[in-house]
Amino acid sequence: MRLILLGPPGAGKGTQAHRLVQKHGIVQLSTGEMLRAAVAAGTPVGLKAKDIMASGALVPDEVVVGIIADRIEEPDAKKGFILDGFPRTVPQAQALDELLKKKHLKLDAVVELRVNESALLERVETRVAQMRERGEEVRIDDTPEVLSKRLASYRAQTEPLVHYYSEKRKLITIDGMMTIEQVTAAINRVLAALEADSAAKSAKKGARKTAKPATGAKKASGKAAKAPARKTKKAAKPAGKAAKGGKKPAAKAKTRAAGTKAAKTRKVAKKATKKSAKTAKRLTKRR
Ligand code: ADP
Repeated sequence: MRLILLGPPGAGKGTQAHRLVQKHGIVQLSTGEMLRAAVAAGTPVGLKAKDIMASGALVPDEVVVGIIADRIEEPDAKKGFILDGFPRTVPQAQALDELLKKKHLKLDAVVELRVNESALLERVETRVAQMRERGEEVRIDDTPEVLSKRLASYRAQTEPLVHYYSEKRKLITIDGMMTIEQVTAAINRVLAALEADSAAKSAKKGARKTAKPATGAKKASGKAAKAPARKTKKAAKPAGKAAKGGKKPAAKAKTRAAGTKAAKTRKVAKKATKKSAKTAKRLTKRR
C-alpha cells in the first residue's frame, strides 16, 4: 500500500503514520525526520536545510524530491510506504507522480487529516511539554512564532494539494478533530474499503481472463465478478466524500471530477466522516 498523509503541523500525521506502519507493515517516510537527521549529521543537505527549517519555510523542492527518490528505492520501501510531510507543494506532487509512473507503481490514497487551526497551537504546545517531560530534545521550529510561519507555508503551498489529489480521485478526508483512536478507526475503515475494492477489481479481471467463450459461462462469470466490484466501489467512494458532507457520494464524485472549485471542496463534515465510514463498513461486510 502506498499512502500520503496530508495535513498541517499538529494534525496528527506522525501519530497516525506510526499506527499505519504497525498495521500494514509498511515504512513511514517522513521528510521532516529525514531532514532533521541530515541537519544533525551535518550533511550537505542538512547544511542547506538547517536555517530554512528553523524559520518555518520550506526546503527547496529539488532537495526533498531527491531525498524521496533515493529513499523509495530502498528495499524496505518495496512493500509500500506512507509519505508523511511529502509532497508539500504541487511541483513535489508532480515529481512524485513522475517517480511512481517510471517505477510502474500506484498511489493508493491520500489521507487528509483536517483540523481546526485554533487547535493546532495547543496541540503543538502539548507535544513540546511532553517531549520536555521525556527529556527529549525539542524541535527548534516548535515555537508559537515559527508555528504560525509553518501554518502560513501550509496554507499557501501545501493546501492546494487537497484540490490536486481530489481531482485525481485519490483524496480521503478524515476529521482530525476526533480522538486519536477514532481517527485511526476512520482511516482503517476507509483503507479496508479501498482494499476490498481493488481485490474485487482483480477478481473481475481474473474472471474475465478465465471466462469461457460460451455465452452462458461468460455471463455467469461476469456477473459473479461484477457484483462485488460494484458494491465495493461504492464502499470506497464515501471515503473520498468525507470532506464533502454529501448524502449522495456518486453525484458528488461527478461534480468533483468535473472540476469542483477548491473552496467548495473544503467543507469538513465530521458527521459525514463517521457516516461514510459506517457506510463503507456496512458495504464491506455485505461482501
Ligand atoms: P510539520 O510538523 O510542520 O509537518 P515536519 O517535521 O514534516 O513538520 O517538517 C519540518 C520542516 O522540514 C518543515 O517546516 C520544512 O522546513 C521542512 N520540510 C519537511 N518536509 C518538506 C518538504 N516536503 N518540502 C519542503 N520542506 C520540507
